[in-house]
Amino acid sequence: MFLNHDEAIEQILATYSSLKLSPPPSQWTVLASFFLKNTVTDVVKVISMATGTKCLPTSRYPMQGEALHDSHAEVLARRGAVRWFMEEVVRSARGVESQWLARREDEDGRRQKYALREDIKLILYVSTVPCGDASTRYLAASQDPEMAALKDSSRPATVDPPDVGSATRGRDNYSLYGVLRTKPGRADSPPTLCMSCSDKIAAWNVLGIQGALGSSFLEPLYLNEVVIGEVPEQMRGVVKEDCERALWGRLDVGDFGSRVESLPGKYALHKPLISFTSVPFIHSRATMVEAGVVVSGSCNDSLCWFADASGLAFEVLINGYRRGVSPKHRLRDKSLPLLCKLSMFKLFNRVESAIASHVAGMPVDNCERIASTAIYPPKDVVDTSPPNQTVFAIPSLLMPPLIVACPETSRDSESTTSGPTYFKTKQSSLEYQNIKNLLTGANAPFVGWVKSGEKWETFGAAPT
Ligand SMILES: [Zn+2]
Repeated sequence: MFLNHDEAIEQILATYSSLKLSPPPSQWTVLASFFLKNTVTDVVKVISMATGTKCLPTSRYPMQGEALHDSHAEVLARRGAVRWFMEEVVRSARGVESQWLARREDEDGRRQKYALREDIKLILYVSTVPCGDASTRYLAASQDPEMAALKDSSRPATVDPPDVGSATRGRDNYSLYGVLRTKPGRADSPPTLCMSCSDKIAAWNVLGIQGALGSSFLEPLYLNEVVIGEVPEQMRGVVKEDCERALWGRLDVGDFGSRVESLPGKYALHKPLISFTSVPFIHSRATMVEAGVVVSGSCNDSLCWFADASGLAFEVLINGYRRGVSPKHRLRDKSLPLLCKLSMFKLFNRVESAIASHVAGMPVDNCERIASTAIYPPKDVVDTSPPNQTVFAIPSLLMPPLIVACPETSRDSESTTSGPTYFKTKQSSLEYQNIKNLLTGANAPFVGWVKSGEKWETFGAAPT
C-alpha cells in the first residue's frame, strides 16, 4: 500500500512553482501529474504535469490534429506521460538504460514490448476530484447553490435518466451515478465531444494510458493509484466511494466484469487505489477560497510539462494551441503543441524508426525521418510511393526485419504524403481496438462513448 505520497506531491508542486506561471489573480485551475515510484528504493520520478479546465467546442476542432481538443489537466498530463514513455523508448533504443522501463522478451528470446520494470508503480495525482461521475457528491456538497446551478447545463436536473447508449451532457441529471458525461458542465458553454475525466480514467483502467499508438511498442500501462487533493477529511469517505465507482467499479459488473478477466494479451480491468493528500495546490479553487480570495472563474490557459524534454521544458496552451502563435503559423513544426495529435504522430513514427534501427543494429539517429512515411502500414493502406523510391518495410516487434535500409539518398526524395493517416495507424493496433470495442461497442458498459473520429484524424505525419 502506498498511502502517503506527500513528498512526491511536494516535488510536483515545486516543479510547478519553478516554472513561474500563474493564472491571473482570482482565477483558479486544476493540476494533474503522472509520476513513477520505485517501491523498493522509494525513488520518485515525476514524468508529466499539466494544468487546465477547458476544452474546445466541436466547431473549432482542427483538421490536421494541430490543436488539443481536451485541455483538462488529467488529459494533458496523460498525453505528457505518453510522450515521456515514447521518448524513453527512443532513449532506450539508443542504448541509454532506463531505470523505469524494460523490454520484455518471450521464451524464444524474441523481442517484445516495453513495460514498467518490476517494483515500479504508476501514480496519478490530481489537485481535485476528477470531473464527471467521480465528483458528483463532492461538487454538490462543496459548492453554494448558485455555483451548482451555474455548473448544470440548460436541461433541468429532474428529467428522466439518459437513454441507454447516450452520454449525459456535463452535470445534467447530476443526481444520477455511474453515467457517462461529456465536458464541459457549464450551461453556457457550447457542446463538445470530450468525455469527462472520470470516464477517461475509467477507460485507462481497461486500456492502459499508453493509447492506441503507444500500444504498438508498450504493454498496457496501468495506474496503480490515484491521489486526490483538496478534499476535506470529512468528505473523503464519500469521495472515495464515488471514485471507486466512477473509475472502475461501474466496469466491474455483470458480463463485462467477468469478460475482462479473459481479455486478450496483457489487458485486464485494473482497480487503482484511491488516496488523498492534504498538501495544498496554491491555485486550486478550495485553497484560494480558504485564503480569502474572491475567485472569479477558472483559468483559460493550460500549462504542459514533461520530464527529460530535449527542447522546450514546458509550453502554455490557449484554446488548444500554443499561446502566442499566429493562426497562419500553427502548422509549423516548431509551433505545434507537443501534445497534439499531429506532434504525437510524428513522435510515434520516430519511435518506430528508432526501434527498427535498433533491431537492425543501425545507428538510431540516422533513420529518424524514414519512418515518417513508411511505418507499420496497415494492410488496407495502398502504397502510393513513387516507383523509383525505396520502400522501407519496418518490422513488427515480434518479427525479424524484412527490409531495413537507410540510404542517405532516400531522405530528401521521400514523399511527404504517402504514409498511413493518423486514424488508420491507430486502427491498425488491432488488439487495442478490440479491447476498446469491448468497452464502448454495442452492449458494452460504456456504450454511448462519444468519439471525435475519422473526420478530424485523416492527416499524415509529413513534415510541415
Ligand atoms: Zn476534467
